[in-house]
Amino acid sequence: MPYKKFEEYNMQVTDDVKNRYKDIIKDLGEDVGRDGLLKTPERAAKAMQFLTQGYHQDPVEILKSAMFKESYNEMVIVKDIELYSLCEHHILPFFGKVHIAYIPNGQIVGLSKLPRIVDVFARRLQVQERLTEQILDCINDTLKPQGVAVVIEASHMCMMMRGVQKQNSITTTSGFRGQFEKIETRNEFLKLIGK
Ligand SMILES: [Zn+2]
Repeated sequence: MPYKKFEEYNMQVTDDVKNRYKDIIKDLGEDVGRDGLLKTPERAAKAMQFLTQGYHQDPVEILKSAMFKESYNEMVIVKDIELYSLCEHHILPFFGKVHIAYIPNGQIVGLSKLPRIVDVFARRLQVQERLTEQILDCINDTLKPQGVAVVIEASHMCMMMRGVQKQNSITTTSGFRGQFEKIETRNEFLKLIGK
């Protein structure tokens, strides 16, 4: 078999979380012994471990594993990076797109590493504002580019399914460092991502 993907879960954590999910499902008024729900606590425990795996991953290591000396010093943009995260106030999903740009300063980074660090920070309990800052600071402090920009557009289930029940609102957050603090550079980036 040339390629095999496998998932590994911490058995102790899976067991503990599974038992708590059983209680939660019961408390919510369901019958945990019902056929369709028999394996649900375990599945939910595994899903939550997957969705919060970012706590055990190091985004700095990921960037450092693919940094290369390069004289290219124009803007590099990776746009429309898919985002799935969990809001820390309700543990409900928020999802959308991340756009990242940087201007190298003697080093570039493998392009696939940018979506990967988005996932590392997104797979934690988050707020969109902090997620934006963490991606920005990680790239700025590790790659030390001339500038970096991050824009996130996301829909929040906690607003759509409950609370104010606004189904079509999108929350935009952005952060800019270095060259992107200059209005013309920032505008060029925003134009290139279609904003
Ligand atoms: Zn929320």
